[in-house]
Amino acid sequence: MRTPASELIIHDDAIRANTARFHALSHGRLMAVVKADAFGHGDIVPSVLQSGADSIGVTSIEEALRLRGQGISAPILSWLNTPESDFASALRANIDLAVPNGELLYAVARAAHTEGTTARVHLHIDVGTGRDGCPARDWANLCALARQYEAALTVRVVGIMGHMSCADDPTNGQNMRERLVFQNAIRTARRGALNPSHLHLAATAATLTGVGDGFGFHRIGAGLFGIDPSHTIDDLRPALTLTSTVVSAHEVPAGTGVGYGHDFIAPVRTHLALLPIGYGDGLPRVASDHAEVLVRGRRRPLVGRFSMDMVVVDTGDMLLNPGEHVTIFGPRARGEPTVAEWAGWSRTIEHEIVTRVGARTSRIRRSVDTTTCRSHQDTGEAA
Ligand SMILES: *Cc1c(COP(=O)(O)O)cnc(C)c1O
Repeated sequence: MRTPASELIIHDDAIRANTARFHALSHGRLMAVVKADAFGHGDIVPSVLQSGADSIGVTSIEEALRLRGQGISAPILSWLNTPESDFASALRANIDLAVPNGELLYAVARAAHTEGTTARVHLHIDVGTGRDGCPARDWANLCALARQYEAALTVRVVGIMGHMSCADDPTNGQNMRERLVFQNAIRTARRGALNPSHLHLAATAATLTGVGDGFGFHRIGAGLFGIDPSHTIDDLRPALTLTSTVVSAHEVPAGTGVGYGHDFIAPVRTHLALLPIGYGDGLPRVASDHAEVLVRGRRRPLVGRFSMDMVVVDTGDMLLNPGEHVTIFGPRARGEPTVAEWAGWSRTIEHEIVTRVGARTSRIRRSVDTTTCRSHQDTGEAA
């Protein structure tokens, strides 16, 4: 079998443990958010469903249909579509749809009419994030319109969703304002003869800080993958290890320039190793000159500007062998850099690091403990 140069190892046990943690934190009402290929973690839906998730959340209908195609029968909600989206296929696949305005509600109702079915709809209120959802001033009209479609049996409003903007900071007064907007939206809907039972406001940060508690379902994405945007708890487990393999290595004299523009010039005699992974594979170029990798159990710096397809490690007194494995990031089981460190070096958040690993990198699911990763086995010898 071909052994890929770079591998993204997905730690299934970590995702299961994180899911169980959020099952408890969500009081048993957990919607697992698996948009963007499960934040770059691939096919983990069976694992989260076995570990306490009741339902699945995605942005697009395409993502939802792919899961149905894989045999996932749990409830799925899709919340980010356009009037041209394939609502008919969504309804045939029994997918719940969140809508933020009358145009989308009309498109859903029309598809339901054509299909001879009733669409299960969540109305989406903008509680103050200023991004997705129905502006509060238009909410009463949206509810009234939904009630008309309910009377025509094309739509049934089963839920109301909102998403908070500042939930990672529990001291921010915006949280209380957004809770109030959500509570008012529920009241307006009920006064308008709607009867939504699935109320969901909190995502990871709002669940960990508690500012989104008390409504029902929690839509959890980042936390399942070991990311805590609020820095509230420290027992979530990162679920990815990224490794690469040395192409070539050699000794270089002091004064050797490395890469485009010679941003790095070796100050002393040293050894360099070439890794076949670059910004085209998701390593942020802005991290050039900051990032480190784990080589033979030691942290060593990446030097010179990152290229599209390759980066160079300064291995100091170590001459590596072609074929040796290097850990780019991981859960820190052996002292390797974490995704959080990469986010810091790249002036971004962990979410962006985990979702940007490219298609050239093979995905491998591991259900056992992280210490069985190949990078951890091969701490010295060439493969
Ligand atoms: C991405 C997303 C979530 C999940 O957020 P996390 O912070 O990753 O838990 C929940 N709701 C909406 C609307 C989202 O876009």
